[in-house]
Amino acid sequence: MLAGLARDGGLYVPKSWPQFAPDDIAAFAGLPYEEAAYRVMREFVGDDIGDQEFARIVRDAYRTFDHPDVAPLTKIGSQTWILELFHGPTLAFKDIAMQLLARLMDRALARRGERVTIVGATSGDTGGAAVEAFAGREAIDIFILHPHGRVSDVQRRQMTCITEANVHNIAIEGTFDDCQALVKALFNDLALRDRLSLAAVNSINWARIMAQTVYYFTAAVALGAPDRAVSFSVPTGNFGDIFASYVAARMGLPVSRLVIATNENDILARTLASGHYQPKSVIATTSPSMDIQVSSNFERLLFEVSERNGGRVQSMMEDLGESGAIELAPAELQRIRAQFVGHRIDQDETAQTIKRLCEEIDYIADPHTAVGVAAAVQEELEPDAAMVVLGTAHPAKFPDAVASACGKAPNVPVRLARCLQAEERYEVLPNDLAGLADYLTQRTRAIAEPQS
Ligand SMILES: *Cc1c(COP(=O)(O)O)cnc(C)c1O
Repeated sequence: MLAGLARDGGLYVPKSWPQFAPDDIAAFAGLPYEEAAYRVMREFVGDDIGDQEFARIVRDAYRTFDHPDVAPLTKIGSQTWILELFHGPTLAFKDIAMQLLARLMDRALARRGERVTIVGATSGDTGGAAVEAFAGREAIDIFILHPHGRVSDVQRRQMTCITEANVHNIAIEGTFDDCQALVKALFNDLALRDRLSLAAVNSINWARIMAQTVYYFTAAVALGAPDRAVSFSVPTGNFGDIFASYVAARMGLPVSRLVIATNENDILARTLASGHYQPKSVIATTSPSMDIQVSSNFERLLFEVSERNGGRVQSMMEDLGESGAIELAPAELQRIRAQFVGHRIDQDETAQTIKRLCEEIDYIADPHTAVGVAAAVQEELEPDAAMVVLGTAHPAKFPDAVASACGKAPNVPVRLARCLQAEERYEVLPNDLAGLADYLTQRTRAIAEPQS
C-alpha cells in the first residue's frame, strides 16, 4: 500500500484470492455499505489492522459521502441499472477508494513515524479525489501531475481549489500518458525513490482495487445475486475499475459478462478483437478520464491469464517497451474473452445516449457513464439477467457536454459550487524528468535524513 509500484517496475497482486461461498455473499443483503465493505476488505487486510480499528476507518471513509447508501442503484431500463458511484467529496468514483486509502496510509505512517511523497498522474478525476483525501495530512506531501489543458475546467478546479500547503498541483505540457510515463520514471530511479520516499496512489495501488471490489458485491446482491447472474458495463480507462470486477468474480461473485466500455481510445476493445495490444496516440474526447492508451492495470489481467507467469508478463511488458505492442497467445486471449467483451463508443453515440436518457426517463448521465450505458445496450441479455452500468462521475463535473447533448445544465452540488468559486493554485512544467525531480526535491518534507 505504501509503495504502490513494486521495485522491479511490476504491479502488486495478492498471492491468492480470498473466497466467499454463496451463503456469505447472500448474507451481504441489506447490510449498510460500510459493513459490506468491511467484510469484503477484511479478507485482504488480515491481521495487519485490528478488526475494530479497521471497521472504524471504513466507517469514517464512507461518512464523507452524501448518499446514505454510498453507492445507490437507479433503474434506467427493464433490466438495466446505473450504480451511482459519484456521491463522494469530488463527485467521481475515485473517492470510494481514495477516502479509504488516505486514512489507511495516514495510520500506517503515523505508526512508523515516517513521511512520504505521493506522486501521481491524473487524466482528471484521480487528482481531485487524491488531493481532497490527502489535503492537510501531516505525514504526506502530494504532487499531482495533470496534462495541461487536457482536463475539463471543473476537473482542474477541483484539484486547484485545494490550497493546503502539502498539496502541489502540476500541469505538465503533454498528454496523460506523458504524465504517467514521468511518474513511472521517477519510481524507476531507485535512488530518488528512496531519497524522497515516493509513494503512489494512482490506480496501480493495490489498496484502491481492493476498495473497488466492494460495490460489485453490494450491487449484485441488491439485484438478487448469488441466485441471479449480473453483468457489469464499466467505463474504462486505466482498467482499474473493471479489474476490480474481475477480482470480485474470482472471489466467488457470480457475474456473467464484464463489458469494457471505451471511448475512441479503444485499445482494449481492439485487443479483445485481435489479440494485439498496441497503443495509438491519445484522442481527446468528451470523456477525458478515459482518454488513455496504456491501461496500466491490464498488466494485472495479463498476469492472471498467463496463469500467473511473472516471466511471461515481464517479457510482454518488455515487448511493449521495445516494439510498442504485445501479442497475446491464443490461450491468453481465450481466457480474456471468456469473461470480457469490449465495445467502443464514439462521441456522437455518447451524446445521443445522454440525450435519450434525458428525454426518455429524465435522467442526466455524465459522458463517462453514457459510454457505459451505450456499451451495455449492445449486449443482449437473457430474460432474467440484470445489467449494471457503473455511474463513474456526477454530470455536474462535465456541464458542457451534458448541456449540449441534453439541452439543460445539471444541478451543481453545494460542495462543487464552493470549489468552483475558489482561487486556483497550480504550476505549469515542461515534460521533462530532471526538472520535475528537482521540483519535488525542493518542495517535499519527506527527504530522508542523511545517515550519520
Ligand atoms: C477514472 C475514471 C474512469 C476510468 O476508470 P479506470 O479504473 O481508470 O478504468 C471512468 N470514468 C471516470 C469518471 C473516471 O474518473
